[in-house]
Amino acid sequence: MGFSTLSNLQTLRPHLFLLSFIVFVSFSAVTLLDSMSALGDLGWEAYPAEGWEEISVMDERNTPMRTYQVCNVMEASQNNWLRTGLIPREGARRVYVEIKFTLRDCNSLPGVPGTCKETFNMYYHESNSPSLRHVRESQFIKIDTIAADESFTQVDVGDRVMKLNTEVRDISNLSKKGFYLAFQDVGACIALVSVRVFYKRCPMAVLNLARFPDTVTGGDSALVEVRGSCVEDAEELEAPRMYCSADGGWLVPIGRCVCRPGFEEHEGRCQPCRSGSYKASSLDAHCSKCPAHSHSTQEQASECPCEKGFFRADVDPRSMACTRPPSAPESVISTVNETSVALEWSPPRDSGGRGDVTYNVHCKQCTADGVSCWPCRSGGGGGPHFVPRQFGLSLPQVLVTDLQPRTNYTFSVEALNGVSDLSGSPHQVVFFNVTTSQKVNVVLKERKSRDSITLAWQEPDQAVGTVLEYEVIYYEKNQRHQNYTVLKTRSNIMTVDGLKPGTTYVFRVRARTDGGYGNYGGEIELETSHEDMLAMGDPNQATILAVSIAGGVVLLVLLVACFVVSGRHCGYIKAKQDPDEDKMQFQHGRVKLPGSRTYIHPHTYEDPNQAVRDFAKEIDVSSIRIERVIGAGEFGEVCSGRLKLPSKREICVAIKSLKAGYSEQQRRDFLSEASIMGQFDHPNIIHLEGVVTKCKPVMIITEFMENGSLDSFLKKHDGQFTIIQLLGMMRGIAAGMKYLSDMNYVHRDLAARNILVNSNLVCKVSDFGLSRVLEDDPEAAYTTRGGKIPIRWTSPEAIAYRKFTSASDVWSYGIVMWEVVSYGERPYWEMSNQDVIKAIDEGYRLPAPMDCPVVLHQLMLACWEKGRSDRPKFGQIVNTLDQLIRNPGCLKELANSSVWQDPGTPELAAGTVEEWLDSIKMGQYKDQFSSAGYVTLDSVLCVNVGDLGKMGVILAGHQKKILTSIQNLQTEQASHVHV
Ligand code: AMP
Repeated sequence: MGFSTLSNLQTLRPHLFLLSFIVFVSFSAVTLLDSMSALGDLGWEAYPAEGWEEISVMDERNTPMRTYQVCNVMEASQNNWLRTGLIPREGARRVYVEIKFTLRDCNSLPGVPGTCKETFNMYYHESNSPSLRHVRESQFIKIDTIAADESFTQVDVGDRVMKLNTEVRDISNLSKKGFYLAFQDVGACIALVSVRVFYKRCPMAVLNLARFPDTVTGGDSALVEVRGSCVEDAEELEAPRMYCSADGGWLVPIGRCVCRPGFEEHEGRCQPCRSGSYKASSLDAHCSKCPAHSHSTQEQASECPCEKGFFRADVDPRSMACTRPPSAPESVISTVNETSVALEWSPPRDSGGRGDVTYNVHCKQCTADGVSCWPCRSGGGGGPHFVPRQFGLSLPQVLVTDLQPRTNYTFSVEALNGVSDLSGSPHQVVFFNVTTSQKVNVVLKERKSRDSITLAWQEPDQAVGTVLEYEVIYYEKNQRHQNYTVLKTRSNIMTVDGLKPGTTYVFRVRARTDGGYGNYGGEIELETSHEDMLAMGDPNQATILAVSIAGGVVLLVLLVACFVVSGRHCGYIKAKQDPDEDKMQFQHGRVKLPGSRTYIHPHTYEDPNQAVRDFAKEIDVSSIRIERVIGAGEFGEVCSGRLKLPSKREICVAIKSLKAGYSEQQRRDFLSEASIMGQFDHPNIIHLEGVVTKCKPVMIITEFMENGSLDSFLKKHDGQFTIIQLLGMMRGIAAGMKYLSDMNYVHRDLAARNILVNSNLVCKVSDFGLSRVLEDDPEAAYTTRGGKIPIRWTSPEAIAYRKFTSASDVWSYGIVMWEVVSYGERPYWEMSNQDVIKAIDEGYRLPAPMDCPVVLHQLMLACWEKGRSDRPKFGQIVNTLDQLIRNPGCLKELANSSVWQDPGTPELAAGTVEEWLDSIKMGQYKDQFSSAGYVTLDSVLCVNVGDLGKMGVILAGHQKKILTSIQNLQTEQASHVHV
């Protein structure tokens, strides 16, 4: 019986096989009595004396044979008994009696009366006593009446030919020391030639590396369960058992033994693995050759030790080749963009034979001469931020932000794998130096002719480093998508020839320092003259354009090389060469261009687990200590606890766990929050510490926010904060949302309940799960996970046709502002959702909460503009709030309205900021005002000369004009209030 068949059968219930599953049928028999082998008299007792007679005859081989005969056929009423001596049972419960006899056919005997019989009876009597005195017939139990059957064997008895019969009968359930057999003749002519009594045993057997002892069969048809013991060098996989049947056969093997590590099975035994081979587990069938970079010098190896310089991590299977730490990463490319640097490198040439190479990036700040360096401050202390993280990077790239401008840094990237810590030798590291840069403004001047334009610009401050060259890009207005030209010069003046007369061209300039290219400056439109004239433009009327030039390491080296080499028109490749789109994008973890990053939806991953691996750090569960339950999330409890990572200090964390019995889909949805959160790194976005996915329960670990969710926190502290503190909270949320919208992430569920507050009142945006994202079914538009779209927080276009954008997040943000100022009041109070939708559609908006400054309510109303493009951007909101925090005087005027804002009421008599600027002929500054966050006329009232300078309004005449108009507005406003 092979292992495979056996193990299959073991999974079935053994009783099903009792009848059909016979393993060995070759029983061994133990003889208790054999009349043929008796040398002298058998000494059996016969009575009456004229009945059975002991007679010796010769068999065919002339061997004397003891027989008992009786043949009183001529007389009636015969009752002749023949009884054996006590036959000891020897532990057997069932014995077999084989008798050989001849029986005369009554017809063959001439003149016998009708009382002649052709049968006799066989009996037994159990006894503990070796001698039997007074035996009564009634004490004997009949075994059977024996008749001659057809299978006669012919035997010569004297001159007669007799037929020899063989019959076997069994006696079951014996329990005393022994038993007597008795043969009763009632008038037949019989010769008992042989009586043999025996019992059966199941012979010693070895099966499935288990030894089963020689076993006496049970009585009746009972099976004897026998426990086997493993052969030498084998161990139990499952307790081996078999049944010894009454017939002496083994039945139904259950369980088995297997050779222990270092041994393999051979012909029912376990033999040692030879040197050079090993067997790690008892479950392995055979010894295997030692894996690469390991060897075993002795027999019986359960593992092959690694060669010098190679290692095996604890988690590595013994069958895996021994590996070594990786070599250093190679070919580092750094792309500096002002105070950020994107680093990409090639994986180490030698991975050490493993697939688990990760990278750690270390940062040092150095003096200009590079002689002395010191570690960069860590992220929490305002130092650089590493995206996606600093340590344990799985992809060979990282983005380092928030570096100090014009500073030398030395970065080192080390490659590690699963055996780096075992080697004891230092990790292989690659170093490289980076110098950050700073944005500067230059003034651009121009001069035109019929077919040429001369541009001149101011050299940037020496502080940004030496400008190596300038790059001028130009194209015919509205022809940008056909082609454009790139020119380079070392001078800060350039004449562009060969232009069409009377045609408008768009120019942009950028500089390259030893740190690389900066960003392109703004566009300047210049028209060539219709007449042939060569007059230099009046420098006083020179177009002033802020051109931002940033040093940095060459990013578009290849592209620029193309321009430099060809020196002529290059085809415009959309999306690759749009100077406005100088952005860094993370796509499946790949860094593209510097600038900003784009959020990657976990659904873009074929394998959602890869998204988790890419964006979330796996945390060993032993580093986490859960302390208490603090809330209930959609997928399970939220607890607080502590996280102690190696060589980090212990921190408080929140631990969300996935409740038991989840489906694969729920696990994915639960972890999607981590793969989204892990992409963010901002002080106003809840920070992901990592995930536990390798053991259950699956957990998401985030920073702990002592004051819990913002809505309940505000309700608890109703009226207890200053307006500046409330503004600080709103500013934080807006900053977090600006970060998210810059990354193209639309939150969809921005509400105070999804903002968490820490002990320093810092508000952080949270709740990034995927499961609440609406389904495709239009019916599902009104439902989210276990509920409705948050109607009260959602913009009309998102409710009506599911147009969720950063602009719809801005709407929600306006509601959050309202929640903050009203200390957690429910938006639209107890109105039904349907009524809210209707009122909003009719143009009504939430009134200012009690004690709400007018400017804040104006900002809320701007967020609730029906047209989504009319709403401010988060960047503008942040700037507006910054202005208000800097100029708290602007907050003095309270709205104190408690009625619905009627859509017919103009927000301010003077109109919008754009209209006002147009009215004073300063329309060219619309962008500057809007990007500085001045989206309502109310906010403009606080602008001072310093604010104008920061916005880039630097001409004294323009500043005067604007400030005079603001004064007028303030007077108007005051009289309006008095009226
Ligand atoms: P969530 O599943 O994100 O809605 O979390 C449920 C609740 O757990 C929240 O409303 C908070 O009260 C609490 N909670 C979640 N995350 C944190 C955290 N990082 N710090 C403190 N409390 C949290």
